[in-house]
Amino acid sequence: MTSTSDRRLLLVHAHPDDESINNGATMARYAAEGAHVTLVTCTLGEGGEVIPAGLAHLTADRDDTLGAHRIGELTEAMAALGVTDVRFLGGPGRYRDSGMMGVPDNDAPGCFWRADVDEAAGRLVAVVREVRPQVLVTYDERGGYGHPDHIQAHRVATRAVELAADPAYRPGLGPAWRIAKVYWNRVPRSVITRGLAETAEKAPFPGVAEPADVPGVVDDGVVTTALDGSAYADRKAAAMAAHATQITVAPGGGFFALSNHLGQPLLTTEYYQLVSGRAGPRLPEDDLFAGLDLTAAPGGAATSEERAR
Ligand SMILES: [Zn+2]
Repeated sequence: MTSTSDRRLLLVHAHPDDESINNGATMARYAAEGAHVTLVTCTLGEGGEVIPAGLAHLTADRDDTLGAHRIGELTEAMAALGVTDVRFLGGPGRYRDSGMMGVPDNDAPGCFWRADVDEAAGRLVAVVREVRPQVLVTYDERGGYGHPDHIQAHRVATRAVELAADPAYRPGLGPAWRIAKVYWNRVPRSVITRGLAETAEKAPFPGVAEPADVPGVVDDGVVTTALDGSAYADRKAAAMAAHATQITVAPGGGFFALSNHLGQPLLTTEYYQLVSGRAGPRLPEDDLFAGLDLTAAPGGAATSEERAR
């Protein structure tokens, strides 16, 4: 018998707002259930566009104060989700937003895209060995949709999973910890196709996004896990609305748009692909911790089957 506080979930994201869009309902649900939810965000999103005209002066080409502003937005979003353990990789501002692929920001020293993967992963290993999460959530190898910071977040998270489990790697950061399950954020193609059709019909935006604009879209069969967070729909919508420089949430919360003003469905069932570790007994899983023995000792959570060997 284990208490729910034995469940520890780590999410690794590129910019403030990615966590609420991808995992807001998941984070709210696990936090409400008493699990320990840790968010590591790799940059402050300094290079983002700004939606509200009154805040346009924050952008990198004007005041360049968007990063500090977005720390405030993230703080408000995490309050809406009930998540208290929020960190920036290496501290706030350690890695700068790289901008979209091909822009000159990608070459700027200090941008996350130019960071040494092992060096950045070492900073994440420190968090992993401290928090000892059984589950890690990040993006696929394309970063979901090709943004350099999202690709780099994938690389850093993936490397940190390896290094954290290696007892020979920097023992000063704490005992080795093997993360039992690693997931990538996904959206099933049928779900986004249906959702975008509904957006076209009902959402108050001038246009509608294409499936290609939505990160992590895959064929339905690739998805292993569907997390029903519909009870936390209001919290997810509030968290997304807190990122007001980046997101416009439609009244009622069913739809949203980014700075391109193209509507998308605000999904409250969130989808994942298990890429490392053993799935729970039933597919699709409805719980990221499915199949785990949460009584596992340091060194990593094991499945019940593994512990029986
Ligand atoms: Zn992002």
